[in-house]
Amino acid sequence: MTRPEQQTLLAREVPLGGTRDMLVRRTLPNRALRTIGAFCFVDHYGPSPLTGPGAHPMVVPPHPHCGLQTVSWLLSGDVVHRDSVGSVQPIRPGELNLMTAGEGIAHSEYSVGSSDLHGVQLWVALPDSERNQPPHFEHHAGLPDFDLNEISVRVVMGEVEGQKSPAESYSPLVCAELRLAPGSYELPLNGDFEHGLLLADGDVIVDETTLARSALEYFPEETPAVGLTTESGATLLLIGGEPFDEQLLMWWNFVARTHEEIVQARSDWEDDVRFGTVVDDDHPPLRAPEMPATILRARPSRPD
Ligand code: MN
Repeated sequence: MTRPEQQTLLAREVPLGGTRDMLVRRTLPNRALRTIGAFCFVDHYGPSPLTGPGAHPMVVPPHPHCGLQTVSWLLSGDVVHRDSVGSVQPIRPGELNLMTAGEGIAHSEYSVGSSDLHGVQLWVALPDSERNQPPHFEHHAGLPDFDLNEISVRVVMGEVEGQKSPAESYSPLVCAELRLAPGSYELPLNGDFEHGLLLADGDVIVDETTLARSALEYFPEETPAVGLTTESGATLLLIGGEPFDEQLLMWWNFVARTHEEIVQARSDWEDDVRFGTVVDDDHPPLRAPEMPATILRARPSRPD
């Protein structure tokens, strides 16, 4: 597998599937790079009010997933998750909602309350040996929170400096929120991992690069540390992991390996089998888009 160099992945604005136009800023998958570790999808949204001019509430009715974990992380606001294994779980900033779709699950997410909505949604590809497991859901409050070189670190998944998240992961990876007061810092990195740093809030210069909000700075393996400087303070999300060497086929809400698997997942959803019914949710489910006329193919993490 070719080894990419350090680079900045800029976000593109896309509407999130739902009944209203909630715009998200997506950095993965990216033309230059499709995964960072097993992370295959990175969306940053908000901060935006839930009512009035410029409002962008989150309204994502029941829809299916398979072959991945969804990671919901908030910087402000409140969201309620419901799924087809019976979970009804509000989430607040500093808490983790982690849904392991495995062979198939359906869920919905709606913003609630009155606080501006600001957050990140990640997908983690499950390795082939784990991707057909039964679906399950985890909620974690009280994640490890500590200071590392004066950076406030909250460990969302994996571990940082020996501080471990209780969240289940299925490949070597890390996800952590970093909060910086104005100043300059050094962030040590795991040399076995490639990493991405997303600027969620504030300003930051990463090494020599001024990062735009929602942009993701990529670091290849064997990067020992990065320098971070912020004038007004910053909140960053660190993701990383061992480069994911399986080819993935991502279509709509499914992560698979073959065209036939996608066709099956789509028809199972449309036929109301396999994914189950989201509890306590009267919204009409999202319908799957039409399959494209071409045969979909799995692709490597790095462009050829
Ligand atoms: Mn979803």
